[in-house]
Amino acid sequence: MTGWSRRGVLAGATALCCAAPAAARVAPATMLPLVDPGYRPSDATEGALWQHWGRFEQDLAASPALLHAPDLHDYVSGVLANLLGPRARDVRLYIVHDASFNASMAPNGLTIVQTGLLARMRSEAQLAAVLGHEAGHYLRLHAISREHDVVHKNSVMAFVSVGSGLMAGVAAVNGVDGRGWIDLSNSVNAQLYASLFGFRREQEAEADAFGLRLMAEAGYTPDAAAAVWQQQLEEAQASAAARSKHYRPRASILDSHPPDAVRMADLTLSAREVVVRPAPGRDGRAEYRRAIAPYRAMLLDEQIRVNDPGASLYLLNALAADGWDGTLRFYEGEAYRLRGAPGDDALEAQAFAAATERPDAPPAAWRAHGYALIKAGRADDGKQALARYLALAPTATDAAMVRFALAQ
Ligand SMILES: [Zn+2]
Repeated sequence: MTGWSRRGVLAGATALCCAAPAAARVAPATMLPLVDPGYRPSDATEGALWQHWGRFEQDLAASPALLHAPDLHDYVSGVLANLLGPRARDVRLYIVHDASFNASMAPNGLTIVQTGLLARMRSEAQLAAVLGHEAGHYLRLHAISREHDVVHKNSVMAFVSVGSGLMAGVAAVNGVDGRGWIDLSNSVNAQLYASLFGFRREQEAEADAFGLRLMAEAGYTPDAAAAVWQQQLEEAQASAAARSKHYRPRASILDSHPPDAVRMADLTLSAREVVVRPAPGRDGRAEYRRAIAPYRAMLLDEQIRVNDPGASLYLLNALAADGWDGTLRFYEGEAYRLRGAPGDDALEAQAFAAATERPDAPPAAWRAHGYALIKAGRADDGKQALARYLALAPTATDAAMVRFALAQ
């Protein structure tokens, strides 16, 4: 997958994909791994690629863009282990703060999962679908086969040579939380990065087929793969429909993986082929919700800050198909507040009010609800809500400001 830059991927796609006829469906049963456990580079060219990736990984390991969440890291690593079996020992996972829907797996085992991917998945099976696709690229040595293409090789060299400087610059610009790392990398070397993971159409078909096979073998329901792509297609449509002049399109996996009719039909056919067990596969919805719960507000916050209200509202509603809660309602209000279209005032106030009716409402929902009530002329109710906010978050950075508002 990947596609950290729309522009970069489109450039790559013109050169690599679009001139070629659509690839025929690949049958999952024909997919065999080219990578054994403990796999090492097989020749000098491959060795050079590994070295470059190794250097990139060193920088990434020290990057402020990394999410440090040992429990979530273990959970996602566990899903990788379910898919890869003994080969999982050769894979190292890094979760990176970035609101876009993306993930990638490099030939040396360096695996990057963007927080935007985790924000969007509704079940462990959906996460397995995306990781399985990446594992498909990895196990079929797709990046290596591209390395033997001279043009691509030059891109890799150029990319890696700017890597260290890029990471240092990122740390300086972003301070400690590292947000915006990907945005900066987009502006610096988007085309080069895209060239690293810009797979050919037939390689994408292989990765889809292999991913489904890995999912089924790990006991996940393979239907989750088509569901993931359908969800992302709908999100992209919602985003486009709501696009305003303030909206800047985000790079996403959709750039390099268009879920067109052919691809969706192939996924559905292949999903039927790989069902080998008498019992339907595991969806792992509750497990995923449990693992993501402590980070959900942060993930939604990152998405809201992208300022793509169409995509954000679609995502919140998609997640709410499993039940609304205080956190989802609060960020729904935030999405309306940021959109600021005619009538959004009322929708925003409604969402904040609904958030406070839930036992898990974040403290900020009480603050937002309080200000909305005051704005609507209900000063006493508003002050009560603000007092509730202060009681829940007495040390909040804006506590003094809220106390001042209460004294008015
Ligand atoms: Zn792919």
